[in-house]
Amino acid sequence: MNYKKLAEKLLPDAPSISGFEEKYPPRNLAKGAEVTRLAPSPTGFIHLGNLFVAIANERIAHQSDGVLFLRIEDTDLKRKVEGAVESVKNSLRYFGIKFDEGAEIDGNNTYAPWYQRQRADIYRAYVKDLIARGRAYPCFCTEDELCALREQQTTEKKITGYYGGYAKCRNLSEEEIYRNIEAGKPYVIRLKSMGNPEHKIKFHDEIKGDITVTENDQDVVILKSDGIPTYHFAHAIDDHFMRTTLVIRGEEWLASLPIHLELFSVLDFELPRYGHNCSLMKQDGETRRKLSKRKDPELSLDFYRKEGYYSRAVKVYMLTLLNSNFEEWYLKNPEKPLEEFKFSVNKMGKSGALFDLDKLNDIAKNELAKLSAEEMLAFLEEWTNEYGTDAQKTYFTNKEYLLNVLNLSMGTTSKKRRKDFTTAKQAVELISYFFETPQRSDEYRTDAETRKQILSAFLVSYRFEDDAQTWFAKVKETAGALGFAAEMKDYKQNPEHYKGNVADVAEVLRIAVTGKANTPDLWSIMQILGDTETRKRIERAIKE
Ligand code: GLU
Repeated sequence: MNYKKLAEKLLPDAPSISGFEEKYPPRNLAKGAEVTRLAPSPTGFIHLGNLFVAIANERIAHQSDGVLFLRIEDTDLKRKVEGAVESVKNSLRYFGIKFDEGAEIDGNNTYAPWYQRQRADIYRAYVKDLIARGRAYPCFCTEDELCALREQQTTEKKITGYYGGYAKCRNLSEEEIYRNIEAGKPYVIRLKSMGNPEHKIKFHDEIKGDITVTENDQDVVILKSDGIPTYHFAHAIDDHFMRTTLVIRGEEWLASLPIHLELFSVLDFELPRYGHNCSLMKQDGETRRKLSKRKDPELSLDFYRKEGYYSRAVKVYMLTLLNSNFEEWYLKNPEKPLEEFKFSVNKMGKSGALFDLDKLNDIAKNELAKLSAEEMLAFLEEWTNEYGTDAQKTYFTNKEYLLNVLNLSMGTTSKKRRKDFTTAKQAVELISYFFETPQRSDEYRTDAETRKQILSAFLVSYRFEDDAQTWFAKVKETAGALGFAAEMKDYKQNPEHYKGNVADVAEVLRIAVTGKANTPDLWSIMQILGDTETRKRIERAIKE
């Protein structure tokens, strides 16, 4: 067979491979600097798994003074969604992932273009070269034929795929090939695999450690009938010419590793190091399963932005899952920039990481409690501008008032730092009673008649000017006058002597003013609301 002639026939306008090595030269980086990448497909769905891998890649690149780039793997047009690249970039920016190079960042860079669809020439050159060297061939099998083959292999209990004796088009004669081409039959280009599945290869995965893989013998498609390469082929070409040193990707790609090893070898490219990152799992009753797009809204990165998760909290949790020694470091260094943590590939988990939203919520509460009122305001405002209701947006018109509200939660007026803010969405809802007439979300435990007595008596004695102590003394007085124990210890000794205790009385006031049974210090809340508003709310509650 004249392979050169065949290559010319199949890809007449593909350029020669000479020159690409010079055009995309090895990078001039210091020893130990890692070149890592993120290579999402623009499907419009960017998920936690992408962030998980992104954080690892970002740390590895930047910690070593290397490079992190963004490559868009848009070879599958059917799955392409408009605006997906922007959404990837926005989501990752939110979590502090900064790319040095890549799609829509650095179009003139030596290693550009960054969209695979714009790299057709390079792929075609190398496919042509493989055909010319007799290491790739056209396959004319139709979908139906491939389907029938799969069925046959399943019945015969054989491994499915296009390989060995099943690879029909591998053995077509020169005449048959040209006859098919002349007849206009569509074809794909397949790798002519030389592997033997009896051979086992020892492979060092940077995350999984030493593993054994079976040599590939599948004649995988490298160029589809539309002239676009498959992931396998495109990633080999791109990671070589973008001079990636370390490929950290999801473990779902581990099964394809034998194909990639053969491709790098047949292309005569030096193999980058690989690390296959474990999947994020979820406890579902008794079993653990992968987070699923259909069942788990928390898989989508949009979820975290819509809910208003503080990005540092998500990052802290991801780092906790990524590096086994992070949690301990963070306990000792809670205020330090996360970049000061020494990230190590060899401390990455070998098997599934359990993702637990409750754990993230705990971390989020801790992180938000560290913010100053001003920082909290900025964080809440950013979320509200994008996702809040019109009413919520008005909370930000009087900044001084809002700062008082936020200081009450965390600052000087209450000794305990407020730790019940989990997300921006929930925090904005929690403070809504400062801005809108409260909807009662908790029920009174005291009966209507007694409630009215409490509220009316309180109104008579209430003076806005009273300090916290005087105020509380008056609440106790009201309690005592209405048959409640003013002192807790009296109540505990003889509960049967009382209708209840001062805490029950305070609860009635609290629900009347805020709609909630649990709030920060009530005297302070009344101070912020002001005399008129406080009275108005109590009067309203009396009429309820
Ligand atoms: N486009 C692939 C994906 O989105 C990238 C895998 C890789 O990182 O190599 O899963």
